Parts: sequence; C-alpha cells; structure tokens
Amino acid sequence: MDKNIRNDFPILSRTVYGHPLVYLDNAATTQKPRQVVEAIADEYYNVNANVHRGVHFLSQQATELHEQSRETVRRFINARSTNEIIFTRGTTESINLLARTLAQYHSNKTEMGEVIVSQMEHHSNIVPWQLNGFKLRVIPMSDEGVLDLDTYQKLFTPQTRMVSITHVSNVMGTINPVEDIIRIAHEHGVPILIDGAQSTPHMTVDMQALDCDFFAFSGHKIYGPTGIGVLYGKEEWLNQLPPYQGGGEMIKNVSFELTTFNELPYKFEAGTPDYVGSHALAVALDYVSQIGMDTIHQHETELTTYAIKQMQSIAGIQIYGNTQHLSAGPISFNVQGIHHLDLGTLLDRLGIAVRTGHHCAEPLMHRLGAEGTVRISFGLYNTIDEIDTFVSGLRRVIQMF
Ligand code: PMP
Repeated sequence: MDKNIRNDFPILSRTVYGHPLVYLDNAATTQKPRQVVEAIADEYYNVNANVHRGVHFLSQQATELHEQSRETVRRFINARSTNEIIFTRGTTESINLLARTLAQYHSNKTEMGEVIVSQMEHHSNIVPWQLNGFKLRVIPMSDEGVLDLDTYQKLFTPQTRMVSITHVSNVMGTINPVEDIIRIAHEHGVPILIDGAQSTPHMTVDMQALDCDFFAFSGHKIYGPTGIGVLYGKEEWLNQLPPYQGGGEMIKNVSFELTTFNELPYKFEAGTPDYVGSHALAVALDYVSQIGMDTIHQHETELTTYAIKQMQSIAGIQIYGNTQHLSAGPISFNVQGIHHLDLGTLLDRLGIAVRTGHHCAEPLMHRLGAEGTVRISFGLYNTIDEIDTFVSGLRRVIQMF
C-alpha cells in the first residue's frame, strides 16, 4: 500500500496522550479522507438545495449529484439497476426497513413466521426481527467460529420467511461462506439478506455474483460519512414490499381517501434524503475503487496474518475464532487474568485505539464464554509498524499486571 495514502487522512497524524495515534478501531468506524470531507464542505458551500422538487439550477445540480451517487453505489456493488439501491441511515436502518416491511407483507398470515440468523450476528440483525414479531432460528457455530451448515439446512420450516446472515463477523472476522448459505436459502425458496457492514469495506462485493435478495452496508465503515447507508434489494422483491415510512417523496398521489406510492427506489425514501451524505459516500466509494478493493483486501489480509502471528507468541492470550480463516476484518482476544476494559484503557494511554466489550453481539459472547473481548480492526491505512507498536504496547500493559 502506498505510504502517501496516510496523508489523505489528517486525523492519523494527531497524537493521543503524547503518542502518535494508532487507530485500530476501524470495524466501529473508519477515518475519512480529505476527498470525502472536502466533498461535504463543497456541496454545502456551492450546491446546496433540496433535491427532486426544484426547478431551479441548484436543486437540479444537487439532484444530479444525489442520483449520480446512486449510480456509483450500483456500480460499486454491481447491482442490476439503481432501482435496487435504497439510501438509508446505515446497516441498522436497512435491516429495520426490511424487517418492518416484511412483517407488513406477511401480516395477513396466521403466524408472522421465522427468520434464520446465525450465532454470530450483531444486535442490529437480531432485534429488528424480534421487534417485528418474527421468531428466530439460529445457525450454531463451532468453537472456531465456523457456521454449521448441516444444522442450517434443518432449520427451514414452512414458516421460514427470511434468512439473514452476516457476511463477516464483526467480532472474529470470520468470512462466512455466503455463496453456499444463499444457495441453500434459495433451494428452500426463501429470500436472504446479507449484512455487509463488515465485508463491503474490505473486499469486492458483487450483487449479481452473490445473488442474494437483500444486502446492507454503512457508509461510515467504508471511509464515508455517518448517517448514510444502503439497502440493496432485488427489484422483484422491493416491488412486492409495502413502503417503510410515509411522507414526501415516497408518494405518487395523495388524497385524504387514497394515497398511491412512488416507484422504486423512492417508494422507500420518505422525506428529504441525506443528499450531501449520498454524494460524500460516492466520493468514498470512488476513493477505495481507485486504490482497488483487491489491493485493500490483500493489504489488510497481510496485516491480519502478521498481527495474529505476533499476538500468538504472547503468553496467556486467547484469540477468538478460527485463526486460519480470519479475514481482513477484526481480531478479538483476551489475556488471561486481565479484564478487557483494563487492557483497552491502558492501550489507549499509549495512543492505541482499540475497542472493548461485547461488540453488540451478546449471544456470540455467551457462545464464546466471554463477557467481552478486546478487538483490533484494520483499515487500508494501517501499517505493519503500527501492529508492532500495538504488540509491544500490549506486552508492556500485560507486564504491568
Ligand atoms: N452489522 C454488523 C456486522 C456491524 O458490525 C455493524 C456495526 N458495528 C452493524 C451491523 C450496524 O451498523 P450501523 O451501526 O452502521 O448501522
């Protein structure tokens, strides 16, 4: 990876407690390149106007940027049509949108039905289904964090309404075999959502190759702004589902007696959209595309492999998940006899930003028999030197206990 890339991220050259910042919390959110921050400022300074409704120049220009951004997203994930790209606030809202509209879609049935999830889901792929009345059936995993696909096959019933699985675990970094998981769902005639929050920033994701029915990701985890994300849905599914929220933009005609709804994708985008966020997200996607997702994946895989090797030589460390199958994603660990929060706090004093706790995956923590873990996670700008700093910092902190 070109060292100059770090210059695009001003925050990386700041210090924390007198130490150069080592930012290893990328699974929570990534830092933003100048290009993205400047795109936001530029739009507010020079273009700002509400989209879609205006005849005037600025409104048309803002609309053009917003709709071009949808096309950038389409291209980035290789969807068939921009009708399949719904802008949301992020992965969480994307899953809530789907859970709510799917519940309405099935509301005439005597039972709401079941959704198959896995033991390693983020809370945002558990709670929305529960809130909307679905029963969860759970794919178990091995001690190494590998999903049990034989049991998965047996979880389907006539009441299965959806399979909803994370692509990459936000705790262990496991890349799930989503191609097989999608194929099996379709063999049972059941649609499937892939939670791409932790995969999209680290590898090429291709909707037509994957053939999933729905896919969700967040802009802020892929060097874009907070508050914008995407729900991809196959057109035939999105056409069948009812609208999510009501308001401006999502309607065709409104009267007090009868309202008709707009076509895709606007049917699911009530109110003024985050048109500045969508543009900045497109700039972020162009930024990573220019580097190349394969280059990013390779770089981060090297970092992960190197980090695990270094960490394994530390006495008393336990790394969760199958260390052979770890992706470019996060690495979770504990050190015997030291609370994860203490480790995180003391690493922070050395300028090393890590995350501690249950990582919004309490059922997974129960499965791993851990109350919480320390998690490090990489972005395209991290370096081998930073891993060395982290590992020697970790050794120092352990010695203090
Ligand atoms: N799913 C996974 C796997 C995640 O890692 C996260 C974020 N930690 C989410 C969903 C939720 O994403 P957001 O908070 O951006 O909506």
